[in-house]
Amino acid sequence: MIHATVIIAGGGPAGATCARELTKHGIDALILDKQRFPRTKLCAGWITPKVLADLELNPGDYPHRILLYRRLRFYFRGIPVPVPTLQYSIRRREFDDFLLKRAGAPVHQHNVRSIRQSGDGYIIDDTYHCKYLVGAGGTFCPVYRNLFPDAHPRKPERSIVTLEIEFPFQWGDPECRLWFFDNGLPGYSWYVPKQNGYLNIGIGGKIASLKRRGETINAHWQKFLKKLSQKGLINGRQLSPKGHVYHLRGETDVVQKGNAFIIGDAAGLATRDMGEGIGPAIESAQMAAHAITHGGSYTTRAVTRWSTPQILLGKIRWEKRPSLSR
Ligand SMILES: Cc1cc2nc3c(=O)[nH]c(=O)nc-3n(C[C@H](O)[C@H](O)[C@H](O)COP(=O)(O)OP(=O)(O)OC[C@H]3O[C@@H](n4cnc5c(N)ncnc54)[C@H](O)[C@@H]3O)c2cc1C
Repeated sequence: MIHATVIIAGGGPAGATCARELTKHGIDALILDKQRFPRTKLCAGWITPKVLADLELNPGDYPHRILLYRRLRFYFRGIPVPVPTLQYSIRRREFDDFLLKRAGAPVHQHNVRSIRQSGDGYIIDDTYHCKYLVGAGGTFCPVYRNLFPDAHPRKPERSIVTLEIEFPFQWGDPECRLWFFDNGLPGYSWYVPKQNGYLNIGIGGKIASLKRRGETINAHWQKFLKKLSQKGLINGRQLSPKGHVYHLRGETDVVQKGNAFIIGDAAGLATRDMGEGIGPAIESAQMAAHAITHGGSYTTRAVTRWSTPQILLGKIRWEKRPSLSR
């Protein structure tokens, strides 16, 4: 049996951040992830200055692609609304690998399946034992599935379906664009250029609203591609996206049961307006690590719920910080 004081199931931003906080405090933490890093994670890769500040990361020190936007171009039912701000894009493949390496904790490639309680600890797949167990496995987190579905039910009206593709592309337009409610989409679509010739495009919408309208996300994708082609943004390419489901922040705050915790997407913490999940994953990871190191209880009440204030205040709040506005 392999023992660690804390085992973290999932090595995405939530798991890596939690591990980093624990190792800083001298607590031995082991990360189990079913995938080998660097791995692909479907995500537009938009991050706020707060994310970088929470991670104590200066953009200039980040060794991979990072693109600064001084403006986001929103469209509401086709009407353009340019918003001065300070935001960034990264590639998740690079960012997550960087965070995981920086965490300073050992990582085992292992697909977590069974979890059982043993005294005040947990046994995983009859192979691993820990006192504290942190579920950071995203939407399909095994810690959530084994221990939390009754106490923390996921509401269908908070479920988002997405389609996305990220590909090498010499984009001509460096602006980040977001189209809300186009063709009645109950959500938004995006065009997110990345530094040095990558582009991410995608759409996301509420599953329950799509069902009620008898619409599919695939039909919206086709309309979206047509629009991007007409605007000359993707050179008429036909692109086959991949899909993923995740959950917006609900009302429930049951995120700890005994010595088991759920953080990030496992706890369904993406913001209600924009579906921003990286920031809440990092905030919740730090809070759970604090509860473990200091012995207090863990709650997500203080985790960011809305992204819009961050975007609107981005310029005023962060531009004066030279490290963040480089
Ligand atoms: C299409 C799309 C676009 C998005 N765009 C943005 C954006 O631009 N900005 C933003 O802030 N948020 C965005 N989000 C949300 C964001 O991607 C997530 O909220 C964020 O990744 C959550 O981080 P996490 O660490 O909780 O989970 P993840 O990043 O999902 O990491 C979970 C990890 O757990 C591992 N795992 C899963 N199951 C097991 C198992 N059984 N055993 C072991 N390991 C396991 C996985 O391999 C994975 O590495 C987007 C989401 C989608 C789907």
